[in-house]
Amino acid sequence: MADITGSGSRNLLQRLRETLADGGKGQERLDRITHLIADAMAAEVCSIYLLRDPETLELCATEGLNPESVHQTRLRIGEGLVGRIAREAKPIITPNATRERGFRYMPETGEEIYSSFLGVPIQRLGEMRGVLVVQNREAREYTDDEAYGLEVVAMVIAEMAELGVFVGEGAALSAPHQQALLFRGGIAQEGNAEGRVILHDPRIVIANPIADDPEVELKRLHDAMDILKGDVDDMLNLHAGGGTSEEHRQVLEAYRMFANSRGWQARMEEDIRQGLAAEVAVEKEQSATRARMARVPDAYLRERLHDLDDLSNKLLRLLTGQGSGSGTEMPDNPILVARNIGPGELLEYGNRLKGIVLEEGSVGSHATIVARALAIPLVIHAAKITREALNGDPILVDGDQGIVHLRPEETVATAFRDKIAMQEEAQQKYRSIRNKPATTQDGVTIGLQMNAGLIAELPSLEPSGADGVGLFRTELQFLARPNVPRRGALAEQYDRILNAAAGKRIVFRTLDIGSDKVLPYMKRQDEPNPAMGWRAIRLALDKSGVMRMQLQALLRAANGRPLTVMFPFIAQFDEFREARRRLLAEVEREKALGHNVPSKLEIGAMLETPSLAFAPDQFFEMADFISIGGNDLKQFFFAADRENERVRRRYDSLNVSYLTFIEQIARRCDALGTPVSFCGEDAGRPTEALCLAAMGIRTLSMRPASIGPVKHLLRRVDLSEARAVIDMARSSGAQSVRASVEHYLSTL
Ligand code: PEP
Ligand code: MG
Repeated sequence: MADITGSGSRNLLQRLRETLADGGKGQERLDRITHLIADAMAAEVCSIYLLRDPETLELCATEGLNPESVHQTRLRIGEGLVGRIAREAKPIITPNATRERGFRYMPETGEEIYSSFLGVPIQRLGEMRGVLVVQNREAREYTDDEAYGLEVVAMVIAEMAELGVFVGEGAALSAPHQQALLFRGGIAQEGNAEGRVILHDPRIVIANPIADDPEVELKRLHDAMDILKGDVDDMLNLHAGGGTSEEHRQVLEAYRMFANSRGWQARMEEDIRQGLAAEVAVEKEQSATRARMARVPDAYLRERLHDLDDLSNKLLRLLTGQGSGSGTEMPDNPILVARNIGPGELLEYGNRLKGIVLEEGSVGSHATIVARALAIPLVIHAAKITREALNGDPILVDGDQGIVHLRPEETVATAFRDKIAMQEEAQQKYRSIRNKPATTQDGVTIGLQMNAGLIAELPSLEPSGADGVGLFRTELQFLARPNVPRRGALAEQYDRILNAAAGKRIVFRTLDIGSDKVLPYMKRQDEPNPAMGWRAIRLALDKSGVMRMQLQALLRAANGRPLTVMFPFIAQFDEFREARRRLLAEVEREKALGHNVPSKLEIGAMLETPSLAFAPDQFFEMADFISIGGNDLKQFFFAADRENERVRRRYDSLNVSYLTFIEQIARRCDALGTPVSFCGEDAGRPTEALCLAAMGIRTLSMRPASIGPVKHLLRRVDLSEARAVIDMARSSGAQSVRASVEHYLSTL
């Protein structure tokens, strides 16, 4: 076989470049490429398979196999040797293809006479595009150098595919980033939005994947590496001062080690010597890193590979001048598309975003909490959307169903707009009852309050018609910053919140951190089950400094006004008693310092663990109020992780056991004179809200946008009738009362 490493490779790449520069149809270019490669490698067969959809590879060009099989032969990912290469993102080299695991005989191609086989993935930034194969009749072992040379060529083909130079008839040759696509993901924040894509990390486009002059490319790489290393050093110096935990420092050091890794740099230099442009060399390494990332089971190692991926991104930005911070204009109605995003970054975009679509994310993540707080529709788990979307692409986000339409057909867009218009009409209807109470037909009034977590949400208090804020999650002020906020700054924020509420009651829930909500400046605890771990009040009582500071800030902010404080995740009486004692001690301290203390102080507890429902009477007597945190309570009641998509929907919120449990809590609170409300997400779902009311809950706290729909329903129903329907369903042996209640509602 001819040499395609070193100068041989560069010659081949030069000829590929000419193919790129020549006009001609996509198919002609592909045919020429297979011919050139077969020739350069003295192979009897060279074939290019490209993905026609995420599951299927299609033979798109061949030199040597039966030409009739082009666009006819298709393989599923994982099927045959070619499919295996695509699935494993690894080359296969064998002198005897028929004996190789997974070999599949495809008679239409006539390939059975070719014994030796070398196939490599065609991939870009870790995303699979296809497979490039050479074959020879005689049984021979291709060398690693030959495999490497073919990988370099595959890299160029991947870049060419991204540039759209193979566009032609047929799905596998369709222009990239042009078709209408639908993504099914998970619902993290309801609502709908139409707009244009803004990529958090824009796609890098490389117009010329082949180096004119390797020396020039090497210099470009070295210059960019120097800047990168300087940036990493600066970052380290910045964080090396006091306050940085040992663990944080170690992570940064590992990052620096990667930036200075000789192996990484040497591999990229070698790729350039083979004829790749500097940015394609970076991408080639990044693809390898991403493939490894998908394979390693060890979480620590994966994190480190993430670091390397991150460094590659930075390097690409330096080399191309594209990407974050390169001045991409925000389009009108921007919809953010990202692999994942942190709460701080999301807050920087803030209210300007009309929608968010993430490839990763989870319902309980910080980003989700921020999106919810800002009422921005959010779809999570939209697999591979960042590979498809381009800045400025039209996009529709259906947050109610977890569906995203990228570059939608006009008919889809029209139907979507109709749906939004209908919802708008419904909102009008809700506005008309804004100042009316949520009183049922049989005269029971339910208090409706809103949940919030940001100052920016307070303006919704008035227009939503909420009586007050039933849950203010205070952790966002802590999550969205790089260090612990100071007491003065925090007190100022709480003061602004109280001012914005203009006398309406705000229930401040003290910090609920731990579990998934890890503060950037807090040492990460490696807990086997963080949701049941060292979180919320447990952490606050053990590490009293932060809670004390927060309580002082709240007292200062109240400055003589009424104040309501609620402690999260109370599992037993003692925790509440102790937290309350500490708050009262702070009040005494404030008094002694001559500061104003609240004219009225209410101290409540969140009931989020079943155990608290069975606490002694004295607990209920001591608590000024109780709020049921249904999100957590439900996950512990059913032992189903609220963040685990596999199990979280398995148990209906209208399950008979759960509703009966809620009823018992309501009754107990009633008997002991403890006001009780419900502030989990279910409170904002009209049918659920009705059932909670029927179980005896008289105050519900929810997202502001849910208040209209919930009130509208409550005003139409007779609560005792609804209660009778639920009782019937319960005595019938049904698992959930949903079907019965929905049927009842349909008759109204
Ligand atoms: C809950 O658990 O229901 C709750 C309101 O708290 P969070 O969602 O913040 O855990
Ligand atoms: Mg909770």
